[in-house]
Amino acid sequence: MVHPASLDADRRWLLEAIELSRLCPPSSSAFSVGAVVAARDRPLATGYSRERDPADHAEEVALAKVADSGLEEFLVGATLYSSLEPCAARASRPVPCVDLIIASGIQRVVIAWREPPIFVPGGGAVVLRKAGVQVQVIPELAAAARAVNAHLLPG
Ligand SMILES: [Zn+2]
Repeated sequence: MVHPASLDADRRWLLEAIELSRLCPPSSSAFSVGAVVAARDRPLATGYSRERDPADHAEEVALAKVADSGLEEFLVGATLYSSLEPCAARASRPVPCVDLIIASGIQRVVIAWREPPIFVPGGGAVVLRKAGVQVQVIPELAAAARAVNAHLLPG
């Protein structure tokens, strides 16, 4: 067990996002995801799947809260941490999270787990990178992000 204080900021915020994913109302047709938007080691907002509405995605909730708080000016230097790769296609609403992230001005995204093509095709990281957003994967934390969704995964 690594002491939290010895973890770098990216891992700490990503672990926080994974913890948030445990708060999601259960679903048999969508992943449970947590997201944190942080700027200079300070959280701007958090979100998790289905937090305010059954169609909510974590990243979308967090970005909406940043706007609600009038903190959009900090987004350009902020990082979005998500337990799962942001969606490039979605069944629930017309605008996928990658488009919301690109429009927000956020330039860096850190994720634990690449979206498996179970509900939609995935591929959000590629779309983000093409738009100039830096995407970093911390694969050591993928198992923790997957575990919250074990009931949705084959095998
Ligand atoms: Zn999404």
